[in-house]
Amino acid sequence: MDLWIKEMQNENAAMTYKVKETLHTEKTEYQHLAILDTYEFGRMLVLDGIVQTTIRDEFAYHEMITHVPLFTHENPKKVLVIGGGDGGTIREILKHKSVEKAVLCEIDDRVVELSKKYLPEISCGLSDPRVEVFIGDGIKYVQEHKNEFDVAIVDSTDPIGAAEGLFNVNFYKSLYDCLRADGIFTAQTESPFYSPQMVKKIFGDIESVFPVTKLYMGTVLTYPGVHWSFTMGSKKYDPERIDINNISELDTKYYYKDLHKACFVLPKYIKDLIMKK
Ligand code: SAM
Repeated sequence: MDLWIKEMQNENAAMTYKVKETLHTEKTEYQHLAILDTYEFGRMLVLDGIVQTTIRDEFAYHEMITHVPLFTHENPKKVLVIGGGDGGTIREILKHKSVEKAVLCEIDDRVVELSKKYLPEISCGLSDPRVEVFIGDGIKYVQEHKNEFDVAIVDSTDPIGAAEGLFNVNFYKSLYDCLRADGIFTAQTESPFYSPQMVKKIFGDIESVFPVTKLYMGTVLTYPGVHWSFTMGSKKYDPERIDINNISELDTKYYYKDLHKACFVLPKYIKDLIMKK
C-alpha cells in the first residue's frame, strides 16, 4: 500500500510526498507533531500537517536565515533564535567563530527532544557549550531581555497558533529593544506567491520599526511556492552595502558571498509588492 502525506498550500493546491515510514506522532501541548521518513526528502518534521524541515532540503533555509544577518553584522557575539527547535539555525550560527553565545527560545520542548532523537544531522549543535536552550514563549522572552543580542533570528512556524504573536508590530518593537545598538533581526516571512498580502504587511510592519528593512529570497523545495522570503530589520548595517570580500568561506551548500548580494535582487512582482504603498 502506498502512503502519502499531503500538505495544502492553500485551499486549491497541495504538495504530496510518498512516506516510507512513520517514525513518531504525538499531540504535544502546542501542536500535532510527526516525524516521517519519506522517499524523496528523507526524514521530515511535520507540525500541524505543515512540513517544517527535511533532511534533504533543510540546508537552504537554515543557511539563508542565518548567514545573511550574521555576515551583515560586523562582529556578532550573542545571538538569539526564537522557535527553531529542530536546531538547524543553531548549527549554522555555530559556524561563526565570533559567536560566544547562542540562545534558543523554543516554546515546545517536544520539538527539541524529538529532533535530537530523529534528526541528529540538524539538531547536532544543540549540545554545544556555547548554546543555551530555553523552553518558553519567544514573545515573553524578548520583552524580558533588553539591549542584549547582536542578532536575533525568528525561525518560527506560520503565523497561526503560538506563532501568531511573532508577526506583528508590537513584537517587532520588543525585538528592537532586545537588540544592541547595531543589532539585526531576520525572520522567515512566508511565500510571496501564495501569501502576498501577508508578506507585504510583515514588511510594512518591520519597516515601521527598523531604519533598514530588506527582503531577500531563498529556494526551499518543501515550502509552499518553493521561492521563500526572509525579511531583515537592522538598526545600522545595510546588508547590501557590506563588502562581500570580507565574507569568509564556511562549510555551506547554498550560501556564499556572491549569493549574499544576489538574494536581495527580487523578481519584479515581489519588488512591486513591497514597494507599492
Ligand atoms: N523552518 C520552519 C518553517 O518555517 O517551517 C520553522 C521550524 S521550527 C520547527 C518552528 C518552531 O517555532 C516550532 O518548533 C514551534 O514550536 C516554534 N514556535 C512557535 N511559536 C513560538 C513562540 N511563540 N515562541 C517560541 N517558539 C515558537
